[in-house]
Amino acid sequence: RDQPLPHSASGEVSLERDLSDLAPRRPARRWLPRRVVVTPAALEEPHGAGVVERVESLGIEVERLRSNRLTGVRGETDRETYARAKSTMAIVVSPPSRRRLQPIAPSADWRVDLAEGCPAHCQYCYLAGSLSGPPVTRVYADLDAILDGLADYLGTGAVTSRSGARAHEGTTFEASCYTDPLALDHLTGSWQRAVEHFGAWDAPVQLRWTTKFDDVAPFLGLDHAGRTRVRLSVNCLPVTRRWEGGTSPLEARLAALRRLALAGYPVGLTIAPIMPLDGWTEHYGHLLDLVEEAVRHVPDLDLTAELITHRFTASSREVLLGWYPRTTLEMDEARRAAKRGKFGNVKHVYPQEVMAELRTWFETRIGERLPSCRVLYWT
Ligand code: SF4
Repeated sequence: RDQPLPHSASGEVSLERDLSDLAPRRPARRWLPRRVVVTPAALEEPHGAGVVERVESLGIEVERLRSNRLTGVRGETDRETYARAKSTMAIVVSPPSRRRLQPIAPSADWRVDLAEGCPAHCQYCYLAGSLSGPPVTRVYADLDAILDGLADYLGTGAVTSRSGARAHEGTTFEASCYTDPLALDHLTGSWQRAVEHFGAWDAPVQLRWTTKFDDVAPFLGLDHAGRTRVRLSVNCLPVTRRWEGGTSPLEARLAALRRLALAGYPVGLTIAPIMPLDGWTEHYGHLLDLVEEAVRHVPDLDLTAELITHRFTASSREVLLGWYPRTTLEMDEARRAAKRGKFGNVKHVYPQEVMAELRTWFETRIGERLPSCRVLYWT
């Protein structure tokens, strides 16, 4: 349900109540899967065995599968399959195709996957268009080989070598394309290992990931050497409260951003998906006010923003309507413009004039409220 913004007697948006929420006084949100399975191949990997131990130490039983095929996630109806899959975590070895990294402009040079799937319930979730089959969360057991393989890509990639503004980042690896790291790291420890791996690397590299969760405490003491940029995926309150089920509240995400920045991490905002809802300038203005408060007086703040508008494809719309049949999210092709991708796929984006208005507003307001913030891209 939509919540009104807090207003003062003068009618101005008041930050007081929200800012008291920035303190991390409630425990971070931690997903506990209802069913956890491990394949025989995954159990042979040291990291896979470690994940099993970690999960069992939380009192969750881990089912040892007889074969490397995952079964038993389909229910009688699509809804039942969705519910079962979303509450299942499978510990598996990554498919060989995932070990050949793909370019992932404009976010980073390369995409590296440590898991696939996410337990949250965002009604616009971009995974609906990217992954097929029941939305089970698969975490990868062969982490050592995945991290070792990254060295082959050093000094390659189109994003950081072409763009002068980001050249100092070195080769960039995005580790949250098909999942949400902080939804899972308490169960796997994979991203903590990745942060340390990059921290120990004597080369210009950057690990990047974005999250809608706030469980950052285990990362604060890691030796990250400034080589991991964590972005918090944020939106205005009407979006986070209506359509981002199962994620951490916005205020908790901003508190997490502050804690990471104070621990010396380069940080960022992924503002996505941007939507021109009624009153959007007020709602997004409020969001940027909260961000300003969250990063206030952080020494040597290194803050970036990535701005991504809402879009959908015919197939992602169909999957999302199957998962969330009563959604109030606007996915009306008649109100959108078609944007053709490289492979002929069509994305439905906002019309050009709406995009231009949004872009100008965001770039101007970020410049005013967060002058040290670098906007990396708009899409
Ligand atoms: Fe999808 Fe991200 Fe939401 Fe998870 S947190 S459901 S990956 S949009």
